[in-house]
Amino acid sequence: MGHHNTSTRVQKHIGDPTEGLVDEVSYEVLEEIFQDIQGDLRFDHELNGCLNCGICTATCPAAHYYDFSPREIVQLLWTENLEGIYDAMQEKIWSCAQCYTCAARCPFGNSPGGLIMLMRETAIKHGMESAKAVLRPFSRVMLKLISTGNQLSPDMINPDHFADWGPNICKIDAPLKLLRQAIPMPTLNTIKTAWETNLKTSVELYTIWEDTGVLDQLETIDENLFDVIVDIMEEKRDDWDDYLEELEEEG
Ligand code: SF4
Ligand code: SF4
Repeated sequence: MGHHNTSTRVQKHIGDPTEGLVDEVSYEVLEEIFQDIQGDLRFDHELNGCLNCGICTATCPAAHYYDFSPREIVQLLWTENLEGIYDAMQEKIWSCAQCYTCAARCPFGNSPGGLIMLMRETAIKHGMESAKAVLRPFSRVMLKLISTGNQLSPDMINPDHFADWGPNICKIDAPLKLLRQAIPMPTLNTIKTAWETNLKTSVELYTIWEDTGVLDQLETIDENLFDVIVDIMEEKRDDWDDYLEELEEEG
């Protein structure tokens, strides 16, 4: 994308370090993204100024392992470097572990982790590719959660699903079915769910996800998964209504 006329004197002299990293995106889109971040109620609370002291990066566990620096991210926001912000949202913001050590240490009372959370939410809202790629592996977990009320079930713990565990995966290669059958509670004698979640709880969770906008976010980043999940929710709500009707008839 072309330069806009807000580059600083230093950038004019040495060139913009983010040049070439940003895909073709109009200046209007960059502005809209920044306004979404800045317009959030939390923004002014989490960013009070920045000394560029680097204390946040020095204490950040993610900075030890990745090419990632909360100081850099806060500086991009503080100097309103729209291209740099967009570029960081392509990859770097997803390295944060959301541990908030940075927020506890910043002499300005900033919360770099909180600001990164705002950038993540904005990336999801704009359906950015980085958000889709990062959240893709969690579609299995989402589906499990909506259909059973559990994030993880014993049958998900297998070498196919956890290839990133490397050789350690063999440590969980146990006769799970047999072990689960030995659990005294009959509702746990299955490997398809970690425990039974009551229908009422599931239906209440759906209302929370709808009202808090979680499902809208899901629709933006994975429409297929959203469709499947909406079908499951409808079925469960029908089951709940049937149960209530039965209760009424009996009563
Ligand atoms: S966010 Fe805080 S700790 Fe990090 S560089 Fe800025 S002033 Fe220093
Ligand atoms: S919240 Fe994120 S940026 Fe802050 S210290 Fe933890 S990993 Fe680093």
